Amino acid sequence: MTEAPMDPHASPEEEWALATLAIRAGHERTHEQEHAEPIFPTSSFVYESAAEAAAKFAGDVPGNIYSRFTNPTVRTFEQRLAALEGGERCVATSSGMAAILSTALALLSAGDEIVASRSLFGSTVSLFDKYLGKLGITTRYVELADLAAWEAAMTPATKLLFAETPSNPLSELVDIAALAEIAHRHDALLAIDNCFLTPALQRPLDLGADLVIHSATKYLDGQGRAIGGPVVGREAELEEVFGVVRTCGPCLSPFNAWIFTKGLETLALRMKAHCENAQALAEWLEAHPAVARVHYSGLASHPQHALAARQQQGFGAVLGFEVRGGREAAWSVIDATRLLSITGNLGDVKTTITHPATTTHARLSPEQKAAAGIAEGLIRVAVGLEAIDDIRADLARGLDALA
Ligand SMILES: *Cc1c(COP(=O)(O)O)cnc(C)c1O
Repeated sequence: MTEAPMDPHASPEEEWALATLAIRAGHERTHEQEHAEPIFPTSSFVYESAAEAAAKFAGDVPGNIYSRFTNPTVRTFEQRLAALEGGERCVATSSGMAAILSTALALLSAGDEIVASRSLFGSTVSLFDKYLGKLGITTRYVELADLAAWEAAMTPATKLLFAETPSNPLSELVDIAALAEIAHRHDALLAIDNCFLTPALQRPLDLGADLVIHSATKYLDGQGRAIGGPVVGREAELEEVFGVVRTCGPCLSPFNAWIFTKGLETLALRMKAHCENAQALAEWLEAHPAVARVHYSGLASHPQHALAARQQQGFGAVLGFEVRGGREAAWSVIDATRLLSITGNLGDVKTTITHPATTTHARLSPEQKAAAGIAEGLIRVAVGLEAIDDIRADLARGLDALA
């Protein structure tokens, strides 16, 4: 028996580093020999014969049928992100919210319970309370960092634990490995919304989480161009999520999938630069006389700095800071900016600034805001990639006037 010569073009994907996977994983070159990933804007696919059509519809032969089910451009994005998160499979959907909804519809039934962190994206809370509530799925909320509270909230009906870490805008964390242990001891799954760090800075599946959910709209795209939301995890659960997407229809457009695929190519570089700018800004803010407090896990003053350094490969780029003088002072700092964008969005190369108490968290009562730490003087900045001196100067205009 002669041994086959080693193929110099073989792709040892398991051995590649994240930066390489982000650029190379998931693209199966077509017969056109294209270098960049192609877009397949087609609703359906054709067959060589009636027999081939029958075999594909029966599922006996794999292949594309209709883009609500599968699409090659969407698959490239799914395979690339699965490689980056270290998951067996990824299913992409039309938005971050569709990813959360599809996961819940796939894995939960009436009577099941979710335990979730209190500091969640606002629409996620509405989805759980209003829409899953209507289906007989109830959610209990606990303090993100308080593992004893998670444990105490578990019941025999708890099927899913759901957390965002670090939280927005206060940069609180939960120990993912410890939370996974609690979930598994109670036969529940742990889902982490990894929107704020991305696999470049945190890989929840490696730490024991079962599912990773993203709003690709944020850092995966990174330039504020498209809406989308993938779910990553094991084959067994993801096949159920795929069933929901294929039947219920929140599929990702191939155009958007292509944007996200190209976004992933620069993810590691961008996240590194985002973190450097955020760290420099956090340190500068902490030393400013008009600033009472900075919430950023990259600062030694952050109560969970050690956990962040252990669990994450970077501290992210969303930070909160409190100015002395309440709402009036906070608004004056925001209104004095000329470079920063006044908007609630994040995960963009453009730095954004917002006043959580009157925008992203306005739905909370004064008591709920106090409990959640959303002070009237709190400002959130999602630090982008402009020159740090220009970002600092833009904030100094309003802050210096307060000091
Ligand atoms: C934006 C966001 C979502 C929702 O994503 P969409 O793409 O807007 O649907 C979910 N979770 C977090 C943490 C987010 O920031």
